[in-house]
Amino acid sequence: MHAAPAAAVDADRLWQRLHALARHGAREDGGVDRPALSAEEADAKRTLIGWGAEAGLLPFTDALGNLFLRWDAGDIAAPAALVGSHIDSQPTGGKYDGAYGVLAALEAVQALQAAGMRPRIPVEVVAWTNEEGSRFAPGMMGSAGFAGARDTAEILARRDAAGIAVADALAAQRALLPDIPERPLRRPATLFLEAHIEQATVLETHGIPLGIVTGMQGKRTFRVEVTGEAAHAGTAPRAGRRDALLAAARMALALEALTTDAEDLVRFTIGRFDVAPNAPSVVPDRVAFSIDLRHPEAAMLTRLGDAVAATCAEVAGPCEIAVAELSAAMPQRFHAGLRSALAQAATSLGIASMPVASAAGHDARFLEPICPTAMLFIPCRGGITHHPAESIEPAHATAGAQVLAATLAQLVAA
Ligand SMILES: [Zn+2]
Repeated sequence: MHAAPAAAVDADRLWQRLHALARHGAREDGGVDRPALSAEEADAKRTLIGWGAEAGLLPFTDALGNLFLRWDAGDIAAPAALVGSHIDSQPTGGKYDGAYGVLAALEAVQALQAAGMRPRIPVEVVAWTNEEGSRFAPGMMGSAGFAGARDTAEILARRDAAGIAVADALAAQRALLPDIPERPLRRPATLFLEAHIEQATVLETHGIPLGIVTGMQGKRTFRVEVTGEAAHAGTAPRAGRRDALLAAARMALALEALTTDAEDLVRFTIGRFDVAPNAPSVVPDRVAFSIDLRHPEAAMLTRLGDAVAATCAEVAGPCEIAVAELSAAMPQRFHAGLRSALAQAATSLGIASMPVASAAGHDARFLEPICPTAMLFIPCRGGITHHPAESIEPAHATAGAQVLAATLAQLVAA
């Protein structure tokens, strides 16, 4: 294990850059509002490209506006090790979600350079387009397109709330950043490493500065429609009613019972509940509600999701139901070899680490099927994220970059 590149991580430079980047789209309350493919994001990219140029990194982009800063090993066509995250934010975002992973990657590359290393495999610091999905839904658009998980034409046609298509927003950003060469969207990669703030409190609770992410929990979403019969609240006898709301309420409780586990690993949410006609003196004839179901293990997610329709039917009473599954993403395990490389790097540097699961989605979700992929987390205070109060400790930021540097040194350096 190389100690030199970790020692070459410049903690002050990383911290300064985190706060310099946060000025692009800065909110008055200390947060960041930097929508995907906005002018603010173009400014942030220009800043990143400038920092990369100081280190001799070549900027590239692609048909979805993903930004790559390449540390070359001679052959410009050779597949690269990708390291990074995203720089778009939620409208009420903080300074570190996404930005930390991109800047820690840049710092790690510069640390390898400072340690006198050369890349055996090219390294590209990457900022994926529209991870957050707050301007163009759904999120992780750039990484999903890169990995071939979504159709490019379908992505380009998506529109934001103002009616602006991705294709037009991309064209506007290209005009702001005119001289960046474009490469094919779907390219092979040798690996992907993503550092990110945890967005939860497991690390903070344990007092551990570094999480080696085991994988991502899976998620299934459903829409349940309950159909009854409208009736007069004053005249219709209770016995003959087909009350869609009462049936839906029974379903909510039955589903809660189905999904309650002693370990508290199942995430079950009914976030939307629409009642019709939604009038005070009419027995409701129609209810539609959403189900968001998540679990880190495929077998459990499959079993619970597959039981949703029968659980609802059991308590539907005189009402009819229709259950539609809207999306299904199975849980993922990150690459065992990369996870142990990260853990060993941390151990060799005397940095305490622990395995943690990722409850949130990240760009790594889409890279995992196409190349060895792993993530590391650093703590964020109180688990607060997507909020101006998002906060991290400088020492944790440094530790994450040091582990990235030591791991990269082992995996890609000559
Ligand atoms: Zn993020």
